[in-house]
Amino acid sequence: MWSGFPAPAVASSQQGSARQGSGEVIYRMPYAPKHPCGYPGCAALIEAGNSRCEKHRIQERRELDRQRGSATARGYGSKWRKASKEFLSQHPLCTKCYAMGILRSATVVDHVVPHKGDFKLFWDRTNWQPLCKRCHDKKTVMDGRWT
Ligand SMILES: [Zn+2]
Ligand SMILES: [Zn+2]
Repeated sequence: MWSGFPAPAVASSQQGSARQGSGEVIYRMPYAPKHPCGYPGCAALIEAGNSRCEKHRIQERRELDRQRGSATARGYGSKWRKASKEFLSQHPLCTKCYAMGILRSATVVDHVVPHKGDFKLFWDRTNWQPLCKRCHDKKTVMDGRWT
């Protein structure tokens, strides 16, 4: 018995009220409690679901990109690890300690002239010197002071 059955009218009214009901909840979302940006020292209030304010989101992404970029630019990676290991097996003693009459085994390959991202200087073995960790750390500190 189809004639006279008010199915379409009922269905549409039910659908309408359902949409209205869920719509109400959705449209209240922007009023969800805000919380401060997770960046240390930043008090900017941001919406729930985010961990950083807009400014710090961009800043953190930029820092990540820079870290990733410079690591690649420096040429560090498996190629460098392999080459430096080979170099150390051929030059097992720390150059600086050796100059002071101390025989200490080298653990790092250092660039005599800081390469500062220069690929040619980076891979130039005549610019490499074997250092022990102590001498290398000392040099790194001094390099930092100079720049
Ligand atoms: Zn922030
Ligand atoms: Zn040394």
